[in-house]
Amino acid sequence: MSASEVSSHYDWLVVGAGIVGLCTALHLARRKRRVCVIEQMSEVTNASTLSGAGIRFFDPDPGISAQVAQSHDFYSALGLAEDFRPCPSYYGFGAAANERLLDRAHASGMRVLSRAQLRARRPSVEWGSVDYAVEDEHAGFRDPLITWHALRAACERLGVTFRFGHQVLAFEDSTRARYVLTQAGRYGAHGVIFATGYWTPSLLERLGLPAVVRNRTITVHRLAGHNLAHLPFVVEHDSGFHARPTASGEILFGVPQPDWDVAPDNLPDRADAHLNKALAHLQRYAPVPLSFSGVRTTRSADAFDSVAPEAQTVLPEHTHVFAFGEGAAFKYAPARTLAYLNSILGS
Ligand SMILES: Cc1cc2nc3c(=O)[nH]c(=O)nc-3n(C[C@H](O)[C@H](O)[C@H](O)COP(=O)(O)OP(=O)(O)OC[C@H]3O[C@@H](n4cnc5c(N)ncnc54)[C@H](O)[C@@H]3O)c2cc1C
Repeated sequence: MSASEVSSHYDWLVVGAGIVGLCTALHLARRKRRVCVIEQMSEVTNASTLSGAGIRFFDPDPGISAQVAQSHDFYSALGLAEDFRPCPSYYGFGAAANERLLDRAHASGMRVLSRAQLRARRPSVEWGSVDYAVEDEHAGFRDPLITWHALRAACERLGVTFRFGHQVLAFEDSTRARYVLTQAGRYGAHGVIFATGYWTPSLLERLGLPAVVRNRTITVHRLAGHNLAHLPFVVEHDSGFHARPTASGEILFGVPQPDWDVAPDNLPDRADAHLNKALAHLQRYAPVPLSFSGVRTTRSADAFDSVAPEAQTVLPEHTHVFAFGEGAAFKYAPARTLAYLNSILGS
């Protein structure tokens, strides 16, 4: 196909209609850029629509805390203020209190509770080895599907074009423009942003682009039928897993694994040692015996940028990869995408 056969030309092509792609498209449209979002699925089921969508304001990194607060305001301004369901979060740690964490908690105006205070506050929770915890009383959930639809609608109101069911198969770069090819046609633009989540490393390889991110697979297990919606959500960085109830009352937990792509058949199952350890750990917080019945396993779409520097080469001009990792991204995607765009386009 030659450039004269280009089906459409835009300022920006955003590949991927997850939370990162939709936030990116909306920020660009607010800057009056002509944007087309190209998504491989017709019925979108991705990490964003399946997300626990937990919003936790406390983070040892003050930069992340600020981005979470900014993103919370962004979601609320989309008309989603009512959709936020509070559920306090406890960020637990052992006797060797980490001074940096304590300082951060105080600076954020959050209370650090001792084990005795935690017991008094939440008597039904078995606090196990937790000696202190930062109480993040304003944490909670959103409904990921409602958020996704609200973002899409906001994009459409500003004229963003969507192409669903169009998988990006090839990428071309010329001095004047960038092009992506799908089964349905060729799209040209000044710039392309890949917001392709879990798929990113394999897609970049297929398109002949340098691998600039790695995946971190989080296998996510849902324990249905336990009616644990009233549990606080607990983040256990020391033990390397995350656990939280979701808006639907299921409990969800995952063990991150620094892997490249993991085929669905190779996801850890309930016999996996890590999974058993995580379940035993989780049991300490649950007032009822937990079992593996009703476990559903899926995988998250985190990515992180720890590709060895010597393996990194530069992407073509005006080509960017927004695959955010180092933890879950739903809670800070709006702020992170805006910061990235400001760094590219100027604020
Ligand atoms: C079960 C679960 C629970 C989670 N809980 C939380 C939480 O509590 N709090 C939190 O902050 N985060 C949470 N996360 C993480 C967060 O939801 C994800 O990090 C975030 O949604 C990733 O968004 P994304 O847009 O980068 O990726 P995705 O949502 O995966 O979107 C990527 C899109 O790119 C499309 N795509 C890929 N390749 C192509 C191609 N070749 N052509 C066209 N389109 C393509 C895909 O189809 C997909 O729609 C959770 C994730 C999961 C799975």
